[in-house]
Amino acid sequence: MRILVVGGGGREHALVWKIAQSPLAEKVFCAPGNPGTARLAENVAIPADEVDALTRWAVENRIDLVVVGPEAPLVLGLADRLGAAGIPVFGPSAAAAQLEGSKAFAKEVMKAAGIPTADHGAFEALGPALARARAVEGRVVVKADGLAAGKGVVVCGSVAEAEEALRAILVDRVHGTAGARVVVEERLEGPEVSVIALVDGERVLVLPPAQDHKRVFDGDLGPNTGGMGAFTPTPTVDEGFLDMVREKVLLPTVREMARRGTPFRGALYAGLMLTKDGPKVLEFNARFGDPETQPILMRIAGDLVPALLGAARGDLSSVKLPVDPRPAVAVVMASEGYPGRVTIGDAIEGADGPFPPGVQVFQAGTRRGADGRLVTSGGRVLTVCALGAGRAEAAALAYETVARVHFRGAQYRRDIGRTGSGEA
Ligand code: AMP
Repeated sequence: MRILVVGGGGREHALVWKIAQSPLAEKVFCAPGNPGTARLAENVAIPADEVDALTRWAVENRIDLVVVGPEAPLVLGLADRLGAAGIPVFGPSAAAAQLEGSKAFAKEVMKAAGIPTADHGAFEALGPALARARAVEGRVVVKADGLAAGKGVVVCGSVAEAEEALRAILVDRVHGTAGARVVVEERLEGPEVSVIALVDGERVLVLPPAQDHKRVFDGDLGPNTGGMGAFTPTPTVDEGFLDMVREKVLLPTVREMARRGTPFRGALYAGLMLTKDGPKVLEFNARFGDPETQPILMRIAGDLVPALLGAARGDLSSVKLPVDPRPAVAVVMASEGYPGRVTIGDAIEGADGPFPPGVQVFQAGTRRGADGRLVTSGGRVLTVCALGAGRAEAAALAYETVARVHFRGAQYRRDIGRTGSGEA
C-alpha cells in the first residue's frame, strides 16, 4: 500500500514511524512532514490544510490510504474530498468532525445521546452569556465554539474573570469567527483522563488510556499548552472504567452520529473529568491527541495499518490490536518562552539518534537549516518517548534521553510520569 499521513508534528512522526513498520506499507508519504518523518517516509511539500492540493496529489500518486493527523483539514472537508475521489481515509467527514469543530454541536450530541457532561448554555450575545456566569458566581468555563488551536477555553473563578473571557471571545474576537458563539459551562472538579478509540462508523476499538499534562510547569502549574508530556497506562483508569466509557460515552456518541446520517470514522478522543458524581465528558476531539498518541503508539504491539484501514472502510470487526504491557512515558521538549513567543533557529544536537532500545524521539517544531543541521522551528520541538518495565523506569529512560538532547533554551517538565504526578 501507498500511505499518506497528513500533518507535520510529533503525532504524525509517530504515526509514520508505526505505519512504516507495517508489512502492508510499500511506501509512506507525509504532507508536509518534518525532518523526523523525512527519515522514514517521503515528505510532500503541501501544507496540511490545503485540501484541494492534497486531494489532487493523492489521486495523482495512487494513494491507497490517507491518515489525517490534525483537526483543521478534517473540518475543512479533506475526508469528504478524498472519499469522493475513491481514496480510503482515516478521519471523519466535515460533518462528523463538527464534534470537535463546534463545542455547541458536541454538547447537543451529548445531550441527545444522554452522555454525562457539564451543564451548559450556548450564546452569541454578551448579555445572556454573562447572566449565566453571574448566576453561579463566575464558576464557569468559557469556551469559544470553533477551533482555536487549543486556546479557546478559559476556566474562570470569578464573575470578573468570566466577563473578561467572554468579552475577549465574543466582543474582541481574539479567536476570530471561532468566537462568534461561546459555550458557558458548569465548572467541574476532578482528575482528567483521555480515552481515544478507533471508530468505523459503528464499532469502537479503545486504545490504551493515556494521561497528558497541559500546564507548562512542574506540578501542573503555569499556563495551558498544547501538552508537555503524557504517559500510558494511567493509574486512575482500569479495564472496568474503559468498558464504562465505551458503553456510556463512545458507543452512544457513535450511534447518535450514525442516526443523524453523519457516521463518525477515525479517531474519537474523549476528554473526561472524574468528578465525584462520576465521569463527565469535557470535550471530544475528532483525531488522535498530541502528545498522547506518541506513547500510545509505542505500546501498540501489532500492525496499526489494518486497524486504520478497517476504520476507514467501515469495518473494524476483525481487527485486533495487541498492546505491549510495558508503560510508556513521553516528555515534550519545547522552545524557550513556550507557550508564549518563542525564538527559533537554534541548533539541535542529539535528536537524530541512535537511541537505546525502547526509546524514540519524535520531531515536531524542527527543520533542517541550510547546512543540513537540525534547528528549532516552533514551540513544541520534540517528544522524547520511552517504554520501561514500570512507569518509573520508562520515565527514567525518557529523561536520560532528554539529557542527551540539546538546544538553547530547551524547557521541559521534570515530573512527567514520575510518582505523584498526574494521579488522582
Ligand atoms: P477542552 O478543550 O474543552 O478539553 O478544555 C481544555 C481544558 O479546560 C480541559 O482539559 C480542562 O482542564 C479544562 N476544562 C474544560 N471544561 C471544563 C469544565 N467543565 N470544568 C472544569 N475544567 C474544564
